[in-house]
Amino acid sequence: MNNPKRYTITTALPYTNGPIHIGHLAGVYVPADIYVRYLRNKGKDVAFVGGSDEHGVPITIKAKKEGVTPQDVVDKYHGIIKKSFEDFGISYDNYSRTSAPIHHQTASEFFTKLYEKGEFIEKVESQLYDEEANQFLADRFVLGTCPKCGDENSYGDQCEKCGTSHNATDLINPKSAITGNVPTVKETKHWFLPLDKHEAFLKEWILEGHKDDWKPNVYGQVKSWIDDGLRPRAVTRDLDWGIPVPLKDAEGKVLYVWFDAPIGYISSTKEWAEANGKDWEPYWKDKDTKLVHFIGKDNIVFHCIIFPAMLKAHGDYIMPDNVPANEFLNLEGNKLSTSKNWAVWLHEYLEDFPDKQDVLRYALTANAPETKDNDFTWKDFQARNNNELVAIFGNFINRVVVLTNKYYNGEVPTPGSLSELDEDVLSQVREFPNIISRSMERYRFREALGEMMNLARLGNKYLADEEPWKLVKTDEERTKTIMYVALQISAALSVLSEPFLPFSATKLKGILKLESSSVVIERSQDGVDMSGLIWEDVENKEELIAPGHVIGKAELLFAKIEDAEIQAQIDKLEATKLANAAEAKVVEPQKETIGFEDFTKLDIRTGTIIEAEKMPKAKKLLVLKVDTGIDVRTIVSGIAESYKPEDIIGQKVSVLVNLAPRKLRGVESEGMILMTDTKDGKLSFIAPSEENVANGEFVS
Ligand SMILES: [Zn+2]
Repeated sequence: MNNPKRYTITTALPYTNGPIHIGHLAGVYVPADIYVRYLRNKGKDVAFVGGSDEHGVPITIKAKKEGVTPQDVVDKYHGIIKKSFEDFGISYDNYSRTSAPIHHQTASEFFTKLYEKGEFIEKVESQLYDEEANQFLADRFVLGTCPKCGDENSYGDQCEKCGTSHNATDLINPKSAITGNVPTVKETKHWFLPLDKHEAFLKEWILEGHKDDWKPNVYGQVKSWIDDGLRPRAVTRDLDWGIPVPLKDAEGKVLYVWFDAPIGYISSTKEWAEANGKDWEPYWKDKDTKLVHFIGKDNIVFHCIIFPAMLKAHGDYIMPDNVPANEFLNLEGNKLSTSKNWAVWLHEYLEDFPDKQDVLRYALTANAPETKDNDFTWKDFQARNNNELVAIFGNFINRVVVLTNKYYNGEVPTPGSLSELDEDVLSQVREFPNIISRSMERYRFREALGEMMNLARLGNKYLADEEPWKLVKTDEERTKTIMYVALQISAALSVLSEPFLPFSATKLKGILKLESSSVVIERSQDGVDMSGLIWEDVENKEELIAPGHVIGKAELLFAKIEDAEIQAQIDKLEATKLANAAEAKVVEPQKETIGFEDFTKLDIRTGTIIEAEKMPKAKKLLVLKVDTGIDVRTIVSGIAESYKPEDIIGQKVSVLVNLAPRKLRGVESEGMILMTDTKDGKLSFIAPSEENVANGEFVS
C-alpha cells in the first residue's frame, strides 16, 4: 500500500502464564517497535497497540496447580510482562489486557454480529469428558497421540511436534491433563466458523494478492493450509474462564481464546482512542489505513486465515496489509523453552546488565530470525557490543564530542570551504534515510540496522583518515571544517539510530543538545514546526547542527562487556542444563534374572590405587597401578574427566580382578575398577565405607 493515511500496528498478545524472554523480544516486539519508531520519525499517524492474552486453558491449569484463581495468575504476569515492555522501550500507544471490560464487550459484540448475520454453524457433537473433574476436555486439557505424526504428547488443539492443528477427538489414546483419566464422550453444542466458506476469498486475497510482498515463510505456510482444505472451526468452549458466549442457550460456555484474542487488538485501539479523544474506527475500517500484524511463526494460521475470516464475516473491517512473521530464535544451540527454563528472561537480563537495553535490542536485531531460525549466543552478544557498538558507534561519537569540547569549548565551529571528500561524505549521509527506509518498508530490520551502522562506520573512517587530532597542530582552519562535518554525521546518527537504539539516541541527543524524540512525535502529529530533527531532515537539510550551537560534555554511549560477565551467563545456562539432565534422568529397568552361581563367577576384591598417570593423547583414560592384595597390577580406567591423577593416590576401590585382560591404547589392562555416575555427570568410586578394610577382601 502506497502512502497510507494512517497505520495500525499490532503485536501478538503475549500469553500470561509466564514472563517473557529474548525469543519473544527478537521475534515480535523489537521489530514492531523499530517499525513504529521509524514511522513516527517520518511523521506518520500510528496506533501501536498490544495487550496481554489472559484467557484459555493453560492459565486455568496453572491456577489449579498453584491453588490460586486464574485472575491471580493473569494479574501477576500481566504486571511482569507490561513492565518488561516498558523497560525495553517498546513504545506502545496502548497496552491493554483481554480480561478488561472493554475487551469483553467488544468481543461479545463481535460474536453477536456474526451470529445475527448467520455466519456460524451450530453443531451438537461428541466431546471428550472427564467424569472425575466434571468437565469437558478440549485444547490443552487433553493429551494424546498426534493422528498425523504419532507424537505421544500432542495437545487436544495442536501438536507441538509437527505443528498440526486438530480437534481433541482426533487424538489417539486421549488422556485428561487434569486427572490422567481416560475420558468418556459426551454430547455438547458449539458454534463453528465455516472457514471453508471463506476459502475463495483467502485464496484471492493472499495467494494471488500478496504473492510478492509477503515473506515466503508466511506465504508458504498459508498456501499449505489452504491447499489442505479449510474446515469449520469451533469458536466456543465448555469452560468457566473466558468471555461468556452471549447467547441464551450457551450457559457454561465461553468464546474460544483464539476467537477473542485477536479482537483484543481492536479493544486496545478503542481504549487508546477513548483516553485520547480520538475516533478508533478509521484505524480499523478505513481502506486508507495500513494494518500490520507482528507475530511469531507459530501464530501464522490465526492471523492469516482465522482472524481475516472473522473480519471478512463481520464485513466492516479492513484486512492486514502484511503479517511479517519471524522464525524462532534459539539460545546457545537449543530451542528456547519456558518449562525447561532454557531462556534469558528479560527481567533477569536487566538485573545483570542494568541500562543495557539497547545492547540486547541491537544484538537481537543484528541476529534476527527474519528468514530462518537463528541462534543467540552470549559470545556473539559480547562481540556485537564490544566490536560494533563500542568500537564503531561509541568510539566515533566520543571522539567528536571530546575534541569539540577540547578545541572549541563545545561550540560547533564555522567550517571553511569543503573539500571534495567533505562534500562526498555529506552527500553520502543524505542518502542514508532513503537506504534505511527501503529496508524498513520491506520489514528487513536486520539489513536496516546494518545500514545505520554503516553511517557510523562512515563517520569513524572519516575521522581516522583526516586525523584532526594531528592536524590541529598545523592547520586550525581545516580542523574546524573536519569537526563540523563530523558533527553533522553525529546529528544524523542521533535521528537514524532512534528506531533501533532509542535509549542511546536520546542520550546522544542530550549530549548534542538537540531536541529529543518526543518533540519529534509532537511535531509530526500536530504539524507544528519545532527544531527537533526528523527523518527527512537528514535527507533535505544542508545543515543539521549549526555553527555556534553549544554541545554538552562527553558521556559514554556504550561500555565494554568483560569476559567474566559473559562467563557468568554461560555458567548460569550450564547449571540449568545440569538441573534439566538430573530431572530427565531415567532409571534403567532391571536386567534379566541370574542365578547365584552366575554372581559367584565374578571375583571382586577390595584394593588401593598406588600410582596414577594420564594416558598420553587420551582425554578420558588414566593408567593406574592397583594393589589388589593378590598382586600389584596395571588397570586402565576411563575416569580422567572426573579425577586428576594426583588426587586418587591412596583411594580405596573395588576391583573386578578376574576380567580377561585387554589392551587399551597399547597398554594391557588387568581388571576393572567399579564406578557409578553422580547427578552432575561425573564418575564416583564404589569403595568400602570404612578405612580399615585390607586389600584383597572379597566383595560379595
Ligand atoms: Zn504431530
